[in-house]
Amino acid sequence: MKTYTEYLIIGQGIAGSLLAFELDMLGKSFVIIDNGYRTSSSIVAAGTINPITGRNYVKTWRADELWPALTETYRNISAWTEREVIRNLPIIRSLHSIKEENAWLGRVNDPAYSAYLKEHSDPGNMLAQIEKALAYGEISGAKQLKIKDLLPLMKAKWRAEHRFIEDNFTYEGLEQTGNQWKYEDIITEKVIFCEGHKVMENPFFKHLSFDPVKGEALIVEIEDPFDKSLRDKTFITPLGDGKLHWCGAGYSWQDLTDEPTENARKEIEAQLDAILRVPYKVVDHIAGIRPATKYRRPFAGAHPTLPNLFIFNGLGTKGSSLGPFFARQLVQLMENQIPMDVEVALR
Ligand SMILES: Cc1cc2nc3c(=O)[nH]c(=O)nc-3n(C[C@H](O)[C@H](O)[C@H](O)COP(=O)(O)OP(=O)(O)OC[C@H]3O[C@@H](n4cnc5c(N)ncnc54)[C@H](O)[C@@H]3O)c2cc1C
Repeated sequence: MKTYTEYLIIGQGIAGSLLAFELDMLGKSFVIIDNGYRTSSSIVAAGTINPITGRNYVKTWRADELWPALTETYRNISAWTEREVIRNLPIIRSLHSIKEENAWLGRVNDPAYSAYLKEHSDPGNMLAQIEKALAYGEISGAKQLKIKDLLPLMKAKWRAEHRFIEDNFTYEGLEQTGNQWKYEDIITEKVIFCEGHKVMENPFFKHLSFDPVKGEALIVEIEDPFDKSLRDKTFITPLGDGKLHWCGAGYSWQDLTDEPTENARKEIEAQLDAILRVPYKVVDHIAGIRPATKYRRPFAGAHPTLPNLFIFNGLGTKGSSLGPFFARQLVQLMENQIPMDVEVALR
C-alpha cells in the first residue's frame, strides 16, 4: 500500500528534528527516516548554546537574531514534549593573561555585548575545585539544550503517530515521478536531506563544499557538580544529571571515523589534570563528526535543478544555536517561496 506525505525528511539529528517540528506545528504531513542515530553528531553534542566564541570573545555570527528564535522554539518544544529541554547555563571563561583580561573587559564595556555578558563574574562552586586563573569572565547569555534526551523524546512522539521509520535510507531507492518523489512505498511532494556528515555520500548535493571535522568528549563524574560551565583549556560542562560532566572536544580533519581514539582521550585527560584540583572519574568516551562547511556557514535550500529536493545541513559546531532560526527560514521557502538568507543559500 502506498503512503502519501507532503514531506520526507532524511535524518533525525537536530536539523531534521527542528524542521519536522516546524512542519508539525503548521499541520503538515511528514515522514522521517533515521537509522537510529548511527552516525549522529547531535547525540554526542554537549548542547551548549554559546553567544560568545573564539580567542577574541566575539559574538556568534547572527547571535542577535538566533537568540530570540532559539529561545522561542525550545520553549515551544518544551511545552510540546512536557519536558524542560533547555536551561540557562552561564559559561565561566578563565582569563590567563593581562592581554586576555583587557580584551574581555573591552567586550564587557561594549553595549552590543550587554545582553550576553555579566559585568562581575561569579564562578560559584567550581572556584574551589579548579586551579586558579588570573581572572574570570562570565557569559551569562549561554544556555544548554538537553539534546541527548530531546531527540529520543521527539522520535517517540512521531513514532507513535506513524511518522517515523527507523531504517537506513539508500539514495538509489529514491525515484523522481514528475514533480513528486517515490521512496519504497512512500510518495512525497518534497524530500529534505538532513543526514549530517553522511551528506558526503549524497549524490544530489555533491557540488556543496563540506568540510567535516571530528570531535571527542569524555563524560566524567565530579563529586560536587559545577553549577556553571567552564571554558579553560577545554570545556567542562555539567549535564544537570547528578555528578556527570561533558568534557571536550578537539578537532580532527584527518580521522573521520565515528570511533573514539586513545590519543583524544589522553589529550582531554591531560587538560582535565591541568584544570581540576579534585578527582574525577571517566565513565564514557564519545566521538562524532560535525557537519562543517568550507565557508563556515550552513547550507539550507533547494537543489539547483531537480524539483522539490532540499537540504538542511552544515550546522558545523553550532547546531543547537543555528538550527531553530534557519529551520524556520527553510520552511518559509518550501511553503511560501520566501527566499533564504543569502548567507546560507546554496553555492
Ligand atoms: C563532540 C561534539 C561536540 C559538539 N558540541 C556541540 C555543542 O555543545 N553545541 C552545539 O550547538 N553543537 C555541538 N556540536 C555540533 C552539533 O553536534 C552539530 O552542529 C549538529 O548536531 C548537526 O546536526 P545534524 O542534524 O545536521 O546532523 P546529525 O546530528 O549527524 O544527524 C544526522 C542524522 O541522520 C542519520 N543518518 C545519516 N545517514 C543516514 C541514512 N543514510 N539513513 C538514515 N539515517 C541517516 C544519522 O544517524 C543522524 O541521526 C558538537 C559536535 C561534536 C561532534
